[in-house]
Amino acid sequence: MSALPACPKCQSEFTYEDSGVYICPECAHEWPPQAAEAAEEARVYRDSAGNVLQDGDTVTVIKDLKLKGSGGVIKMGTKVKGIRLVDGDHDIDCKIDGFGPMSLKSEFVKKV
Ligand SMILES: [Zn+2]
Repeated sequence: MSALPACPKCQSEFTYEDSGVYICPECAHEWPPQAAEAAEEARVYRDSAGNVLQDGDTVTVIKDLKLKGSGGVIKMGTKVKGIRLVDGDHDIDCKIDGFGPMSLKSEFVKKV
């Protein structure tokens, strides 16, 4: 068992957990455990091979990616320079030569 966090409002250490929320018996403050933990941990982005990605990295696309709407295809092996990591389903913002601004999924790229 790990120790429960102190109350964020009054710093009481008598926090207890009930039905998935933390409750402080001293000031009656209630808060969800996930919210407190998520705020402290920055999201880590990984490519298809598990390498950690950072803003500005160069990656290659590991499979043909069909583009919605335009009918174009980004070919496997296409090099993408200067990626920008964003929060979302498509977690990479980038610009691809010949295609323009693009959103990719980190699971379909590999760090160069
Ligand atoms: Zn409290």
